[in-house]
Amino acid sequence: MKKIVKFGGSSLASADQFQKVGEIIRSDETRRYVVPSAPGKRFNSDTKVTDMLYACYAIAEEGKKFDDELKAIKGRYDEIISGLGLNLSLDEEFKTIKKNFKEKAGRDYAASRGEYLNGIVMANYLGYEFIDSAQYIFFKEDGTFDGDKTYPLLREKLDNTERAVIPGFYGAYADGRVKTFSRGGSDVTGSIVAAAIKADLYENWTDVSGCLVADPRIIHNPEPIKVVTYKELRELAYMGASVLHEDAIFPVRKEGIPINIKNTNKPEDEGTMIVESTCRQSDYTITGIAGKKGFVAINIEKDMMNSEIGFGRKVLEAFEKHDISFEHMPSGIDTMTIFVHQPEFEGKEQLVLADIHRSAHPDTIDIESDLALIAVVGRGMKAAKGTAGRIFSALAHARVNVKMIDQGSSELNIIIGVKNDDFERAIKAIYTIFVDTQL
Ligand code: ASP
Repeated sequence: MKKIVKFGGSSLASADQFQKVGEIIRSDETRRYVVPSAPGKRFNSDTKVTDMLYACYAIAEEGKKFDDELKAIKGRYDEIISGLGLNLSLDEEFKTIKKNFKEKAGRDYAASRGEYLNGIVMANYLGYEFIDSAQYIFFKEDGTFDGDKTYPLLREKLDNTERAVIPGFYGAYADGRVKTFSRGGSDVTGSIVAAAIKADLYENWTDVSGCLVADPRIIHNPEPIKVVTYKELRELAYMGASVLHEDAIFPVRKEGIPINIKNTNKPEDEGTMIVESTCRQSDYTITGIAGKKGFVAINIEKDMMNSEIGFGRKVLEAFEKHDISFEHMPSGIDTMTIFVHQPEFEGKEQLVLADIHRSAHPDTIDIESDLALIAVVGRGMKAAKGTAGRIFSALAHARVNVKMIDQGSSELNIIIGVKNDDFERAIKAIYTIFVDTQL
């Protein structure tokens, strides 16, 4: 049994947090490969080391003095090292970093030092081998991850290493230049390491006990989701529920490795299992609810639209031409509605409308703004009768006017459009009907 354990920044923000992480790792000897993030925030108004590094490097790039900023970063690590009582000095590392900053080694190099240094501290603390990700995780020249090069090398190295720390977030181009994933990318590293050694489980440790049925800013103390499929998670994440970097799913999914989201501060909590498929039913008919505000609906009407071949294409081309992606497209016999992101659409509105008029000659175009979309997601909906009915009667009781309904043919989700102002009320009503009343 082999597990990859990835710890997020808040799990490694201080010596105390490191100690919790140490206990977690030592309590299970199958936790053999550790992927750390850079130290995150110790308290709300604190700054993540990654952000300190970006800021420090921006000063260095302007050719100005950055000694104080670099010293503050070193202070974060020294505090952890002394808090853990380690016999370790990062003086030489910081000399190299300073030199490289002066020589303008690049923003990615700068940011990657957060994980690199934390990896050194973690390896020293655990007595594990330190493996520099720049030597085993590779990017192609176009900036995408190079699995063909990475996997065989990483696999061979780890097959010959009993226990190791592999810092998250970065790798290198073939010529050795450091490159990072996008923000939050240590999740991706964890997934790549898990795929490389065909781990049994990828544990992703963070500061919440997994995914929740709804946003805790809207629902007080929402229930956790025990098991979620990759598909369900994608639907929820797309609508704003974020627990994991989007690109972290693909490598493990390909190898059939489940991900367990766990809470470093409450390791006894079960957390959320993310799996390809499962016979385990959700505790409720639905798995989760997520949503976003800030959409616009463009309603287009034309008599006999249904028999006019190519009408939809002409309308969509107008959006494509102005680089606007559409989110949903419910339609009637002589109407079609396009949902787009309001901030993306606003500045280009008149250009798009003019293009639709010119190419598709509609009778009328009517725009409704300040709308929110809510996704009710659940693999259990397929087998359950009356799910939609329950949602809409709950919304009617809460006096929420439904502007749009869209059920995907996979019956995995139902998307509902409401006014921005009704958003929170709608989510509460749906949560209550499925979770509190347990229907
Ligand atoms: N430290 C990086 C960030 O703050 C990467 C990560 O934590 O996953 O985005």
